[in-house]
Amino acid sequence: MAKVSIVKGPKGPSFEEIQGMVKKAVGLLGGMSRFVGSGERVALKPNIVTGRHSGMGVTTDPRVLEALVKMAYEAGAGEVLIVEGAGYGSPTPEAFKLSGVEEMAERVGAGIVDVDEDQLVEVEVPNPLVLDRIKVSKSFYNADVKVNVPVMKTHDQMLMTLGMKNMKGVIPKPWKRLFHRVGLARAIVDLNKAVPVDLTVVDAIHAMEGLGPSLGDIFEMDLIMAGDDVYALDWVGARIMGFSPEEVEYLKLASGQGLLDLKGEGITTLGESINSVARSFKRPPMDLAPQEGVTVIEGGACSACRGSIRSVFHDLGRMGLLNKVQDLLIVVGPKAELPEGLRQTPLIMGTCLKGLKEKGRYVVGCPPNNDKMIEAIRELCNI
Ligand code: SF4
Repeated sequence: MAKVSIVKGPKGPSFEEIQGMVKKAVGLLGGMSRFVGSGERVALKPNIVTGRHSGMGVTTDPRVLEALVKMAYEAGAGEVLIVEGAGYGSPTPEAFKLSGVEEMAERVGAGIVDVDEDQLVEVEVPNPLVLDRIKVSKSFYNADVKVNVPVMKTHDQMLMTLGMKNMKGVIPKPWKRLFHRVGLARAIVDLNKAVPVDLTVVDAIHAMEGLGPSLGDIFEMDLIMAGDDVYALDWVGARIMGFSPEEVEYLKLASGQGLLDLKGEGITTLGESINSVARSFKRPPMDLAPQEGVTVIEGGACSACRGSIRSVFHDLGRMGLLNKVQDLLIVVGPKAELPEGLRQTPLIMGTCLKGLKEKGRYVVGCPPNNDKMIEAIRELCNI
């Protein structure tokens, strides 16, 4: 029987209150000593994808991580590492610094590992959907105890991101690109089978709805969840967010592989009930075209380029230029193909489409920065 605990805290909890919530959530599963033995190496995998300040529903709140580091040492851990590889366009060292995780780790004696600089191990995927082997961070894979610490957020490609999706941070950037090329949902399921975690603790002190995973609306939820089975935890998380688990592609795929029952059979919740904490999260727009007059041809684009399109149009809105953007075609993602006989010059976006450079107005970058994108849009739309 998979167990998922749900703990609701007071409004605007202090560090001591957050520590109490995390202890209670893990305690309902049997306590940290159920997972961590004397002298063991523990690896925590937060979500520090963009380096934006945490406590904001974008990156894992360092106070949640601090509570876990302390609990792991109290349970006898010999070493605690915080392991992360930020997304495209976000250097991981900067993300560690800006999120406050670096300062916290130094203060409480945890190590920090940048996945993009770490040694990698090639891991076999049991019963693969799309990838036989995956290269992952050696520090994470070889840890005695693996703890996943995601944030509760909507996601404009996958509908939601919780435990399963957060594991993408243990692979280096070129593999992230490959995941998008081969089909993100299937690759996520393969990764979770190849690198099973012992414990997942969800930071929903602040959560994100709408345009997640980076540009959505942040709100206070004051919730911590914990689970010893990441598939069950994501199933419960989907219900708390007001989504049906059948809508989430990677949960459906996990169910097809016998890792989860989509009706929730075999899952026990502890602490609060799902209904007492659930709310209907605003859904993310899954279509990339930001407005009429703009077409996006997308083929496996990473979250970074998807986020970049949205933030470029946000900037154009602030500049009062949205109504001038007409008849624009954006091509993005490593698998995107250009149709024959186009009447307009397309905007070809990003390093992975360098091969199409001569076929339109190419904007370099991985992802391209907003200024360069706006310059190209101004040119193409005669603004
Ligand atoms: S340029 Fe291509 S590889 Fe780079 S972030 Fe964008 S979609 Fe991904």
